[in-house]
Amino acid sequence: MKLSFEKSRQGRFFPLLPELDVPERKISSALTRAGSPRLPEMSPPDISRHYSELARRTHGVNDGFYPLGSCTMKYNPKINDEMANLPGFTHIHPLQPEHTAQGCLEAMARAEGLLCEITGMDSMTFQPAAGAHGEFTGVLLIKAYHESRGDSARTKIIVPDSAHGTNPATATMTGFQVVNIPSDGSGCVTLDALREAVGPDTAGLMLTNPNTLGIFDRNILEITKIIHDAGGLCYYDGANLNAIMGVARPGDMGFDVMHLNLHKTFSTPHGGGGPGSGAVGCKSELARFLPSPHVSRRGDEFFFDAPSRSVGRVGAFYGNFLVVLRALTYLVTIGGDGVRDAARNAVLNANYMMKHLSGIYDVAYPGGCMHEFVLSLERLKREHGVSAMDVAKSLLDFGMHPPTMYFPMIVKEALMIEPTETESRETMDFAIAALRSIYERALEEPESLREAPIHTPIRRPDEVNAARHPKLRYNFD
Ligand SMILES: *Cc1c(COP(=O)(O)O)cnc(C)c1O
Repeated sequence: MKLSFEKSRQGRFFPLLPELDVPERKISSALTRAGSPRLPEMSPPDISRHYSELARRTHGVNDGFYPLGSCTMKYNPKINDEMANLPGFTHIHPLQPEHTAQGCLEAMARAEGLLCEITGMDSMTFQPAAGAHGEFTGVLLIKAYHESRGDSARTKIIVPDSAHGTNPATATMTGFQVVNIPSDGSGCVTLDALREAVGPDTAGLMLTNPNTLGIFDRNILEITKIIHDAGGLCYYDGANLNAIMGVARPGDMGFDVMHLNLHKTFSTPHGGGGPGSGAVGCKSELARFLPSPHVSRRGDEFFFDAPSRSVGRVGAFYGNFLVVLRALTYLVTIGGDGVRDAARNAVLNANYMMKHLSGIYDVAYPGGCMHEFVLSLERLKREHGVSAMDVAKSLLDFGMHPPTMYFPMIVKEALMIEPTETESRETMDFAIAALRSIYERALEEPESLREAPIHTPIRRPDEVNAARHPKLRYNFD
């Protein structure tokens, strides 16, 4: 496909701006650029076709099944975008006086109230822009808590090996040492290893639940007790809350602080990498450390205030406000029963697919799963030379996005499948049939899978090269 720069023809522009109707002022030449920027010049129909062509070459939730484990690529109701596009929400300035933006502040306060009810937390910030950023903020609260008590010996954060990769990264970024805890045969935290690891140097624990194997840790109450008895705090990675929302609450399981991925569970499109919102909720003892500003209410009036021992700002202004609005719209439209139904269907769909695939592929941790499950293709690789990558690439020819590959790292040749609650039985049956036919081909003609995909615009790019040497600028020469 040609780049817009290659399609550009000099002079083929169209006027976008109205005629100047105010006195013209000259800007000092020290401030102006020497020449015009070399922007592509295209006619409106050519621009329109250019973007349609780009859209045809990508895959989104609107194109087909997208079972990318841990990412919750579900259908996001269009009404969320309609609400977030209302001029009263989009035509505001972050610095305008609070009394002129009461509706926006109220929307944030209402979203906070509903999400606290769902999570069992007491207070929440929307400032972090993504899940990992929320983790960073949440662990800063843990750090501030220990510091406020003059307890400087707590330098370690415990992270089970089934955690999302961002958890150990967060603990390191916030200046803690990571203590890794192995999973047991059923994919849960090994309690004896946890008991052994805690002590006066334990700042806290970060638990991804359900973990990256799609398993709800059945010892969760014992886990939070072990940490609290040792003087640590418990962090819940709630990026995948669509597995439990409306059914169980981290706040009732002993967690002190957590994040949500509003862009996953609470319905904002996030395929292109943003914008997101890693809302952080905490119990009241930690609320005084939350980032500033935070929306508060006095009678009928909403205003921004600074928590008394705030860790400071972690982002500009109030976070991605329009993502919060989408979450609020989603919650108000589906209601409390809808929240619970979404979680139940997410879990039902994952178990349906796991059950049907378990007669074909090896399920890494059989038994019940939550919203996702992991297949291991180790045997297929060993016996037929067909890897998880080959199967994933073959799925592209069925018009499906592949599952998450080679993650979690504790499963060899992993494929991590998350159908989400918004998929129909027919879509899942189609995916199961596709995976079955790929398996049969792996036994009969394994070489053909190494050639896949054959129907996509790009077949197998050199992924390492593409990641290490991305071409992000157009070279005019
Ligand atoms: C997606 C995810 C994250 C990270 O969220 P980002 O918004 O991508 O930073 C963290 N933990 C879990 C369990 C996730 O699924």
